[in-house]
Amino acid sequence: MKSLTVQGRPPLILIVDDDSVVRFVTRQALERAGFAVVEAAGGDDAMRVFAESGPAVVMLDIVMPGMDGFAVCAAMRNSPSGGHTPIMMMTGLDDSESIDRAFEAGATTFITKPLNLVILSHRLRYILRTKQIEDELRDSEARLARAQRMARLGHWQWEPASGLIRCSEDLAEMIGLGHGEQIVTLDRFVSLIDKPDRERIASALASSAETGQGHRVEYAIARAGGAKLIISQEGDAVLDAAGAVEKVVGIAQDITERRVAEDRIRNLAHFDSVTGLPNRTYLVEILGQTIVGARRQGRELAVLILDIDHFKRINDTLGHGVGDTILKEAARRLVQCIRGNDRAFRSDDGRVGAVGGDPDSLNTVSRLGGDEFVIVLGDVRRAEDSAGVARRVAAALGAPFSAGGSEIRITISTGISVFPVDGDDAESLLKNADAAMFHAKEQGRDRSQFFTASLNERAVRRFSLETNLRKALANDEFLVYYQPKIDIASGGPCGMEALVRWRRGDGQLVSPLDFIPVAEETGLIVPIGDWVMQTACAQTAAWTMQGLGPLRLSVNLSAVQFRRPGFVDRVGAILDRAGLAPDLFELELTEGILVEDTAASIDILRQLNALGLSVSVDDFGTGYSSLSYLKRFPLDALKIDRSFVRDIATDPDDAAIVTATIALAHSLRLRVIAEGVETEAQLAFLRSLGCDEAQGYLYSPPVPATDFGAWLTERRRPRPVALTVMARS
Ligand code: C2E
Ligand code: MG
Ligand code: MG
Repeated sequence: MKSLTVQGRPPLILIVDDDSVVRFVTRQALERAGFAVVEAAGGDDAMRVFAESGPAVVMLDIVMPGMDGFAVCAAMRNSPSGGHTPIMMMTGLDDSESIDRAFEAGATTFITKPLNLVILSHRLRYILRTKQIEDELRDSEARLARAQRMARLGHWQWEPASGLIRCSEDLAEMIGLGHGEQIVTLDRFVSLIDKPDRERIASALASSAETGQGHRVEYAIARAGGAKLIISQEGDAVLDAAGAVEKVVGIAQDITERRVAEDRIRNLAHFDSVTGLPNRTYLVEILGQTIVGARRQGRELAVLILDIDHFKRINDTLGHGVGDTILKEAARRLVQCIRGNDRAFRSDDGRVGAVGGDPDSLNTVSRLGGDEFVIVLGDVRRAEDSAGVARRVAAALGAPFSAGGSEIRITISTGISVFPVDGDDAESLLKNADAAMFHAKEQGRDRSQFFTASLNERAVRRFSLETNLRKALANDEFLVYYQPKIDIASGGPCGMEALVRWRRGDGQLVSPLDFIPVAEETGLIVPIGDWVMQTACAQTAAWTMQGLGPLRLSVNLSAVQFRRPGFVDRVGAILDRAGLAPDLFELELTEGILVEDTAASIDILRQLNALGLSVSVDDFGTGYSSLSYLKRFPLDALKIDRSFVRDIATDPDDAAIVTATIALAHSLRLRVIAEGVETEAQLAFLRSLGCDEAQGYLYSPPVPATDFGAWLTERRRPRPVALTVMARS
């Protein structure tokens, strides 16, 4: 017979029987079969021997004086070491009641007396083998439970039919279910999850139940005290014999710590530890994305590399601590400077330039390392404008720094490269901006340089434009030109648009397209715009006095003027002073103004309305093409942009757009003016659509006041006149 050992020794059997003959015979047989044996002659004795010897199996007689077998069995089960020891009860043959009681008391199995000693040793071996398997199973379960606890892992199972979800103890505790709440409804389970994640998780479970496919999701759970857990959950469907989903089972793991660590690693990898700005690696990534966006939308973007002049000297003489303080403060000022730059760098979709790894931003400030910073301007209207940013940034960094008890002043040298002319990937833009920066250093530092020479010239011109524009008002260099608007039905003039011109000291006439953007950026548009309004209103009042009216005067307005506090009052005052009736006055606004800040815009428009003047939307169709605002705003007229009018007679798309626009405007009771009408064919088409007014070279280009007066006088003569096109000036 195969020998059997427990930890290298023969398994120890405790025989408890008050009958010494039974004990003796059994011991003989068992020892021959390779077991070791200890004996006890009664109940009390049994407990002592059990505790001392720790047997592998107990054989227990039932009927004994004193403590009987049932009592001994129960006592052993309750003892610290006896929980899992197999206990074999020895009963009389047909005594099924005793058998039941024995199991109730915790017996493992029973054997009938008189004992068949051959069978007995086989039974014992079988019991021991089973016990070993059970022990191993228990062990591995305990190990698994410990591992799960350590891994913050729990498991769950959901039966769609009952709607109940059963969580393991660990999971229930982890996600904050109350005591005794291991089985809950799906709703209760989902209610623990953070609101924004709930629907996603519920539908992941539902989809597993429906399709039989697994799922893997992550979600957050807010625990009491505000701590947030991140849970990673996986689930798999269990199918029944018919192939239908019976339940969904899975695990859930608390991965909060891992996530925190990952975030930290990502931060370390992406952000500069001194300034908190994106580092070079991250910059290259962001720049790459910005380039993709710019390419898609046909935008230009600029890369500015800033290097602090003689920074090494600061580090060497004042120490690295002072150097770091300056870098930190410089970073702060850069971010603020670029953020304050919304107006010049606003993208078409209304996003404004913010900074520093902000995913919604088009502009980025980052630190390359050392004393070098990089600014990416994600949307520049004109490349040369980025020189203005470089100037502003230099001024911001030019203010004294206080560090290490002293006041320190720095200057910077900036190199600028522009996408797409100077490169169409991140590396080449950075390389070329760097080359430009070195050029700036060579030129004597404290300046900025474009990589492309012609951009330097344009930047210089742009700067001188700004300087001259500042003086233009004082030098009386502005003029107002007038262009008539014709009432299509009658063919007679019904009004005119005032268009500003700048005749510079050198006699050169500058187009508003060239100086209005600069005037807007610098705020000069406010005094210039006021001047245009005053001049044109006075002129219109004069023409009215001469009997050339009634003519409605239109004046263009930029967003900067519209938003200035007190704007409506100033318009009222200007009309009063000129003695012009408000119903002869119209302001032309662009779509952008209206969409920007809806509530405030409506308020201003209402006030203008109350003054009794008209408001029209200029260049309609080129901006945000959101028609909904037309309904919401108190407007009077709509000017169809000349880009649509140009090909109206030949391009079916443009014809369709204009047709629809006129119909829409009329349904909203808005007057429609077509601008840029140059041919009779265009006019005929517009007339057929019922367009109200036309403006364009077909009648006259914008002309100086005296020419316009003469033109009006000519038109007002009683006899019918042939349409004359005046020479452009
Ligand atoms: P806008 O308000 O859309 O003015 C119409 C522009 O189209 C004018 O250009 C005008 O000369 C031009 N135009 C008129 N008829 C025709 C035509 O038949 N064919 C073609 N090709 N063009 C035509 P201008 O005078 O150069 O003004 C350009 C823009 O400058 C104006 O566009 C307006 O947005 C702005 N602007 C002009 N004066 C002022 C002003 O006093 N204040 C403000 N804020 N902006 C102004
Ligand atoms: Mg206009
Ligand atoms: Mg226009």
